Amino acid sequence: MVRENYIRRQREEHGRRAVAVLPIHYPKELLTALDLLSVEVWGPPGAPRSDAAGRIQPYVCSVVRNALAFLASGGADVVDAALFPHTCDSIQQLATLAHDFGGWKKPALTFLHPKGEPRPSSRRFVAAELRGLASRLEEVAGRRLDPDRLAAAIQLHREIDLHRAALLDGRAGLDMDDAELYGLLRRGEWLWPEEHRAELVAARSRLDPARRRPGAPVLVTGYVPEPIATLEILNAAGAFVAADDYAAVGRRIARQPDGPIGDPWEALADRLAAVPPCPTRATDQDARMRHLVSLLDRSGARGVVIHVVKFCEPELFDVPAIRRTFAARGVPLLYLEGELERQLSGQAVTRIEAFAEMLGQGGTT
Ligand code: SF4
Repeated sequence: MVRENYIRRQREEHGRRAVAVLPIHYPKELLTALDLLSVEVWGPPGAPRSDAAGRIQPYVCSVVRNALAFLASGGADVVDAALFPHTCDSIQQLATLAHDFGGWKKPALTFLHPKGEPRPSSRRFVAAELRGLASRLEEVAGRRLDPDRLAAAIQLHREIDLHRAALLDGRAGLDMDDAELYGLLRRGEWLWPEEHRAELVAARSRLDPARRRPGAPVLVTGYVPEPIATLEILNAAGAFVAADDYAAVGRRIARQPDGPIGDPWEALADRLAAVPPCPTRATDQDARMRHLVSLLDRSGARGVVIHVVKFCEPELFDVPAIRRTFAARGVPLLYLEGELERQLSGQAVTRIEAFAEMLGQGGTT
């Protein structure tokens, strides 16, 4: 309801239309430049909101099952279109199923980002995809894309990336618990970007490099921090997230050198290529392992939590390599698998508490 009211207010006060966006990677700058509000749909969590979830196979992840149920129940009727990035086969199928089974009557846009390592052909491909998506979004927005506004949007999102990276990198010196920090970072999934930037700037003023947050630092890699109780229990048991590799959060932050934007279409393609390795983009697995090790080393994390969604093929594909990588370094690891439930099972709570306690005592697996 909070988001729905926000979308309505954006429409009434600013004349902005809204687009529901499925996970994960998409050129948000295009939407911002066209004055379109992006509202991301990561599920939503909890029980499916209609029986439409039962129309797809039970071995499809809860993100897609819940999203279909959400669309079918009218949960996103307030938006003007939906954007389905080609994150995985399940989301690609959802783009067609939503119309067939879900009762969704709004335009369904797709965006195929290049898979694998960057090469000249993928660069040409993404250039065409970006322009194709821009023209579909122009129809939704009812206006033409202005190159100056696009450049301004790219600059705005670069700043947002910078602030988000600073907060995550300086995590140990930030007087926020994980629930507050992730609440802030995830509001970027639906707030108008300038409002999100203002919140990030305010949060950065609370960074104090001289402060050392008490507790055992951990690296979390996974999909989305749901339920947030996972991190609340981690905090209560004496550990905190010092390094983030959530697909919804850290894996979408591009760390690009500051400089002139130049050709905005090239800048958009650069940004898409500059985010950290992600299995949904089929990036090189060794490069991803090196990235995770470097996150662990830089943050001083003493353990690793893998927090994935059940039946998520892209994420699960890398889990054996993550296990091997950290086992070889003697780093304790906790594996958590969920289905976007609102509450954790007693067993999961006990495992998180035991893991945090063991790290606090300097233990190893
Ligand atoms: S959780 Fe995994 S399988 Fe499900 S939509 Fe996301 S990437 Fe695809």
